[in-house]
Amino acid sequence: MRRTAVALLLLLASCVFAQERYMVSLWRGGAKGAYSLTLDDFCGDWARGIWAHADPIARKEGIRFGFAVISGQCTAGLWEKARSMAEWGHEPVNHSWSHACPTEEAWCVASAGRRRWTDLALEIDSSTAAIARGTGVRPVVFAFPFDVSLPEQRKALEERGYVAFRAPGGKLNPPDVDLPALYVADSEFPKDDPGKNAYQRFSMDSLPKAAAAQGAWGVRTMHGVDDASWGALPQEEFAAHMALLARMSKARELWVAPPGDVVLYAAMRDEVRFSKSPAAGPHGGTVVEYANGLDSLAALRPGLKLTVEVSGRELRRAWLGGEEIPVVRSGRYFLVDVPARSGSFEAEFAE
Ligand SMILES: [Zn+2]
Repeated sequence: MRRTAVALLLLLASCVFAQERYMVSLWRGGAKGAYSLTLDDFCGDWARGIWAHADPIARKEGIRFGFAVISGQCTAGLWEKARSMAEWGHEPVNHSWSHACPTEEAWCVASAGRRRWTDLALEIDSSTAAIARGTGVRPVVFAFPFDVSLPEQRKALEERGYVAFRAPGGKLNPPDVDLPALYVADSEFPKDDPGKNAYQRFSMDSLPKAAAAQGAWGVRTMHGVDDASWGALPQEEFAAHMALLARMSKARELWVAPPGDVVLYAAMRDEVRFSKSPAAGPHGGTVVEYANGLDSLAALRPGLKLTVEVSGRELRRAWLGGEEIPVVRSGRYFLVDVPARSGSFEAEFAE
């Protein structure tokens, strides 16, 4: 009797498992957690280390970060650097035109040299246009100066197509985001003024490690490297952090990407529907079609890819538009990366 029950269960299980299943990985590449780094005040005189040091050090390790641009401060030469950084894959983030204080809070107004945000057309629209022109990338993330904002300012940004704004908080972000995303970042404080957030600058590496351990998204805000900016990191410390991120990326512990990529990926993750085409592909394999209900978001970041987890059957090879693409085994999943826009790939399964 017991043996029959086991046989029945096995039969049931094989029916279920003879069918492969598809879903989009929690994070790109099947990583356990996600991490974004944004370097603030690009074009500020005091933050020259962003282009002088942080960019070349990060490129060497293959790490892409966000750089928040104070657009009203950029010279032609700095726009050239910004364009080169954006073309390489760093993400230009809008940090407003003037870096004035967006709210009435006294500490914020004082920090901004008593300057307040009075002109949304200048702080948002002119800044957006300047960054799009200067870098070739229309920004989709807005980092408010001093990380404070008012609901009407966020509404204005949403109306202009921004998908994410940054808030202070010093916590990790859960993996699911609602658009527009008001995500929290952990500011890196100077050594002599260590803040009270959970993951501070005396432990730059603790935030990405926590993100990986908790399957969450950690966002680090910092300024320059080896320059006159607030809490500037020495080159060696920044380089060590980049090396850690590269190691964690390689081990699929962490997906390290600029904030806009992470927000867009998370927003699209559960919207993708998979179906099999009845016809075989050119290599005789199964054609898997996927429809992204949010193709308009995918269009904001044409290079962004989604990682598809295939389970239930052994995926041997895969092709995308005629080209073979890598299949990576990760535990009981097989992973392939596909463009975020609706499309299809061809899969060859083991018999
Ligand atoms: Zn700033």
